[in-house]
Amino acid sequence: MLPAGSTIGILGGGQLGRMMAMAALQLSYRAIAYAPPGDNVAEDACADFFENSWGDRAALAAFATKCDVVTWEFENVPLTAVAAIPPALLACPARALEVAQDRLNEKAFIAQLGGTSAPYVRVENDGDFARALEVVGTPGILKTAREGYDGKGQWRIASANEASGVRFPGRPCIYEGLVAFEAEFSVILVRSAAGEVRFWDSTANHHEGGMLAQSVLPAGALIEAQVEQARELAAKTAQALGYVGVLTLEFFATKDGPVFNEMAPRVHNSGHWTIEGAATSQFENHIRAITGLPLGGTATRFASIDMRNIVGDAALTAHEILSEAGEPHLHLYGKREAREGRKMGHVTRVGHALP
Ligand code: AMP
Repeated sequence: MLPAGSTIGILGGGQLGRMMAMAALQLSYRAIAYAPPGDNVAEDACADFFENSWGDRAALAAFATKCDVVTWEFENVPLTAVAAIPPALLACPARALEVAQDRLNEKAFIAQLGGTSAPYVRVENDGDFARALEVVGTPGILKTAREGYDGKGQWRIASANEASGVRFPGRPCIYEGLVAFEAEFSVILVRSAAGEVRFWDSTANHHEGGMLAQSVLPAGALIEAQVEQARELAAKTAQALGYVGVLTLEFFATKDGPVFNEMAPRVHNSGHWTIEGAATSQFENHIRAITGLPLGGTATRFASIDMRNIVGDAALTAHEILSEAGEPHLHLYGKREAREGRKMGHVTRVGHALP
């Protein structure tokens, strides 16, 4: 167990790192973070911040000397940057990043464990794409294999006609069949170094423009009926990766059962409700797992939960939200620039307390 006062190093500087650092502080740990220059909102909650490129090995080494354990809040931290951190400091093997950074790897990995994904084909050029359209058909989605998030790097293809207008981004892509899902949900688990696994309840997740907009509990009968099977896959995934900390797998709930969409080897937007809504939040349990503290309970504390992202101009909505009845819980991330499609904060509304 890491003693109080130890330093947790976070790779990445966004809101997930900020909320992780806040949870670390609560348990008397110091958080420091490392990220390339930008609107790094984790900095406000950190004792120290390294604003250097991912390629700066000297800065990464200097960062590592200040850490007692290192974790990440962003799945696209380059593996070369992680390799500059002594492996003994990593809370979790880098293999989790390696698998999750590439949609093709991720789907192959999940298939090995017995999971089901949308039908897909690797695509790099017009010839591959023509074959993919034959094999998978339309409608479908073309996605960059790497570095897509929040619906970026994705093109929906409604029909073969539409496909002729697509220009390849010059890097590997994946063409997936569009899944006719009834609902979307995620499984969020925490795993300790000793292999203990706990799950939070799965919310129904609603997306707008490929980006999470809202997470809701109760999730509905269809999701509830599919959670057990999805959890089995998530637990197997965590075990196969030797995972330590919070891991998220996203699923489509279909008539034929859960279909794996993607994984995030980190705390997740669809788990923000756990801050007020669960016995222990995803952020706190992540810190507990990586420091060797006992894991906290994950039970939901309220009869209903509604977490909504605040996207774009947060200043306007903050006043309105805080004027509402029902004590909504407002979280603003301190971003200096509000841009369209940018997550600025979230608000969690809860129903009555469960006995
Ligand atoms: P992703 O970045 O892959 O999680 O995609 C973002 C969102 O786009 C998902 O949560 C779905 O709402 C939608 N989406 C992505 N892939 C598919 C698919 N194969 N079939 C149906 N919807 C999809």
